[in-house]
Amino acid sequence: MGLLLKISIPLLGAALAFYFYSAPENFSEEMLRGKRVIVTGASSGIGEQMAYHLARMEAHLLLTARTEAKLQKVVERCLELGAASARYISGSMDSPTLPKEVVREAENTWGGLDMLILNHIGYLDFNFFNGDIGQVRQLMEINFLSYVAMATSALPMLKESEGSIVVVSSMAGKTGAPFIAPYSATKFALDGFFSSLRQEFIMDKVNVSITLCILGYINTENAVRAISHVIRDTPAPKEECALEIIRSGALRRRELHYPPWIVSSMLLIRDIAPELLESIIRNSYHVENVRR
Ligand code: NAP
Repeated sequence: MGLLLKISIPLLGAALAFYFYSAPENFSEEMLRGKRVIVTGASSGIGEQMAYHLARMEAHLLLTARTEAKLQKVVERCLELGAASARYISGSMDSPTLPKEVVREAENTWGGLDMLILNHIGYLDFNFFNGDIGQVRQLMEINFLSYVAMATSALPMLKESEGSIVVVSSMAGKTGAPFIAPYSATKFALDGFFSSLRQEFIMDKVNVSITLCILGYINTENAVRAISHVIRDTPAPKEECALEIIRSGALRRRELHYPPWIVSSMLLIRDIAPELLESIIRNSYHVENVRR
């Protein structure tokens, strides 16, 4: 009985703590009004949609990606939608200097930062791993190291504002995914790094939240072009996905699962029966359509 109590009281405490930690809090668009936000990978897809939502919420925006012409159009649209201000810096995140430059621009323009949304990715053919180590190294630089570099440079400003880091990841960062091994590796690395950092922040009483976004298949042009011939699932809408990412960041949630039911049930199966999940994933692919 004594032993049972010793075990059950901490367990009950943990369950209650978890309940209150994850209890839904009301999101209001006002939470973003006047906030200073960096969005990476904002020239297309989910990043572009996040920029439009944040603009409607009257945030200050600094956007980045490689293609200047697209960024110019996104900035124009953001200003039409009501952004408090909007500007961009173009460049590739495989440059070791760009992450710092973007953060310095925020510091020079705004003198601070409230939210850092890390979302960009480098591209990869959807195919069997071809042994190209150089490509793995480059993808690590773009999808992982630049995220670490931006978060590191932005940390003093985020500590000052008690702000938020939002890291966009994928189901492929929680379980192995065929035909995108290097991408999957970069997303696992993000989980390892930012989940460890979150623990350190809590232990060190640093009031900067870290939200890891675990996304399933989303209907961005690039994703649909890259995989729709192999995966026939219906992708979830990028507009709603973008809003959920912003909402989770503003509410300082630990993780977002989107689409919620699909991602959460896949993660549950992974924990109970990993081989079953791997087999479900393999069976959902039309391998014959992979262009070797
Ligand atoms: P996307 O439409 O392809 O957008 C990627 C963004 O990254 C673009 O703005 C692109 O712009 C930029 N980019 C590409 N290479 C870059 C580089 N070298 N340096 C800097 N920026 C670069 O992708 P998405 O589908 O919206 O995905 C957004 C995020 O969601 C990613 O983190 C992805 O892993 C995650 N996610 C997406 C899905 C999905 O099904 N769509 C699923 C799971 C997770 P430029 O080409 O102009 O540089």
